Amino acid sequence: MRLFLIFLALLIQPRERIDAMSQPALSSQYLRWFQEIEKSLGALFRLFSGLCGQCYSQTMAQAVSGERAKRGYWCCCVIDNQVHDHWTQLNAVQIRADRQWYQKMKIPKDHPARRRFPGNGPCPALGPQGCQISRCRPITCTTQLCEKMLYVLAEARLISGPIDSPRQIEDIISLPDILPALYGCRKNQAVTAAEVQAYLAALAEFTARLARIDVKQRRLWTDRAITRFMAPERRPR
Ligand code: SF4
Ligand code: SF4
Repeated sequence: MRLFLIFLALLIQPRERIDAMSQPALSSQYLRWFQEIEKSLGALFRLFSGLCGQCYSQTMAQAVSGERAKRGYWCCCVIDNQVHDHWTQLNAVQIRADRQWYQKMKIPKDHPARRRFPGNGPCPALGPQGCQISRCRPITCTTQLCEKMLYVLAEARLISGPIDSPRQIEDIISLPDILPALYGCRKNQAVTAAEVQAYLAALAEFTARLARIDVKQRRLWTDRAITRFMAPERRPR
């Protein structure tokens, strides 16, 4: 038995060493700041009043009916796979809290998002209730505003410029993108507490401006965004 345990230890140890060697350097302070910013961004995204839910339902309805909007406008979690696109860094971040994080994500076999979609989706983190990663999601999922969100912000006169492709939040608050450095993706970029505070303050101010708009008005714009970007395309006869 003891020999078996020693053999097992020899088998496991090198794997752990390899894992540790291949993990990008991560700072606990940086990850705390990342989560603080992620939380603030969550407050902003919640103001889009069910937009992502509508987008998902519309995508699945079109996938079943065969009626198609331009597929680039389909639900991003259905057509993208941010988990595998950013696996090295995401895994390094997630295993700090739970080594089994990936194995714990479950999508029932009959879940509609199990079928094949254009692009490399669906994302394996997409569960029946939405994203199964509760903290430190891939950076794109944390900071990107899709065309439908940009439409709402443009209607609210909070942004100007093109809305026909996604933009990063930093383009809007006009501050440097510090999240990749906080996530350990840019080893040579140091981030200071003052930069994090400035980022949080700019986000809070932008969020407050959107929150001041009546919720019914925001819902109207989200409905229009769905119609504008997800109306089925006419196919040539
Ligand atoms: S494409 Fe936009 S609205 Fe649709 S799920 Fe993604 S972020 Fe939400
Ligand atoms: S990680 Fe979550 S939010 Fe990002 S694409 Fe996957 S399911 Fe969507």
